[in-house]
Amino acid sequence: MARPDVAGLLQSLIRHDTTNPPGNERECAQYCQRLLNSVGLAADLVGDDYNRPNVISRMPGRGDAPPLLLYGHIDVVPTAAQPWEVPPFEGRRQDGYIWGRGALDMKGGVAMMLDAFMRAHLEQTDLPGDVILALVTDEEAGGFTGAGWLVEAHPEYFAGVRYAIGEFGGFSKSYRGRKFYMVQVAEKQGCRVEAVARGPGGHGSLVHHDTAPTRMARFLVKLDRTPLPYHIHPVTRRMIEAMSGRLPLPDSAFLRLLLNPALTGRMLRRMGSVGQEMEPLFRHTANATIISGGEKANVIPSEVTVNLDCRMLPGYPAEDLLGELQDIAGPDIEFGVVRFDPKPWALNMGLFDTLAGIITEQDPEGVSVPMLMPAGTDGRHFARLGIQTYGWMPMNLPADFDFLKTIHAANERVPVSALEFGAEALHRLLQRFHG
Ligand SMILES: [Zn+2]
Repeated sequence: MARPDVAGLLQSLIRHDTTNPPGNERECAQYCQRLLNSVGLAADLVGDDYNRPNVISRMPGRGDAPPLLLYGHIDVVPTAAQPWEVPPFEGRRQDGYIWGRGALDMKGGVAMMLDAFMRAHLEQTDLPGDVILALVTDEEAGGFTGAGWLVEAHPEYFAGVRYAIGEFGGFSKSYRGRKFYMVQVAEKQGCRVEAVARGPGGHGSLVHHDTAPTRMARFLVKLDRTPLPYHIHPVTRRMIEAMSGRLPLPDSAFLRLLLNPALTGRMLRRMGSVGQEMEPLFRHTANATIISGGEKANVIPSEVTVNLDCRMLPGYPAEDLLGELQDIAGPDIEFGVVRFDPKPWALNMGLFDTLAGIITEQDPEGVSVPMLMPAGTDGRHFARLGIQTYGWMPMNLPADFDFLKTIHAANERVPVSALEFGAEALHRLLQRFHG
């Protein structure tokens, strides 16, 4: 098989429907394995689920730097009930874009990685250290057959790795006429909380007040209207300082006011949709997702429970969040943690300047800034091995292209020029990464 260009590669990846659940990434993984084999690279399929293997390949370097890990997930989120204008698994190329599920999240990034990895092999690039490519399954549902399993069952694959390149950052974003490249260096911690309201039950024919359902309703309305307290996380501080350092007055001063927790909420509200997008970087979030209570239409339930999908800033223990929720709820509601995915909080910015330098070479207007990711990625699994992930799928996007709104949505697509930009950036990184 001839080595396709990065756009053609993405088209092929999209055509393997790896909607998760159930994932069924096997054919897609086999395609990647065959592709690597076709240029003379060995690649293993490893996993504990026959239908969901991961692909691992390793290229030797000269040993001056610790191994660098490139990892990406090959599963995608469902497309059902979304208004797509093109079939989501056709991999259509149209108007300078590749369309389809996974174009951005993250088969586009996987295509860039495969392209840079094979190119380095074919061009016999002098690599500072070994480069490991891991294409993993199940990221969208927890990484149980993918990164989570690999880290648990086969940590030896990643021995000595300090830095990894993964999702979710790297895309450009325009703000106040400046072009920023967001480099993800940390992510929030997922925490599932159960809120319980109790109250007197009774017969549905009588007059009742202050029941479990109304107590829960009061709490949910309050939660909707009251932001959890603002915290200035060190990564968010770096991001705001880096951005404001590149903006003229008064924009720079305005942005810096966000770093005063007494003003953060007011400033975010003044920033409109941009403020709304930034708000999760300044506080824990809690959203009601599953509501249950009552079994019979004529019986007032004495208990109502609500599942809260919470995302916590890195480094905070779950008790802090429970305390903040309790402050909003008052004594009527009891909270308990159902599941907490603590991510060890550590930050190693050692590779950041190298990445920023590559971006400036390819886009002189581009300013790289560190970013905290409001959701979770496979980065948390690799963090358990002490690996610092940089979410860096470099993409120079048109100013009016809204990356965050296109992910997981209908008509997911990526400009071909952005794919080529990212593949080139990764190629440059493979020539100059360091410890
Ligand atoms: Zn993803």
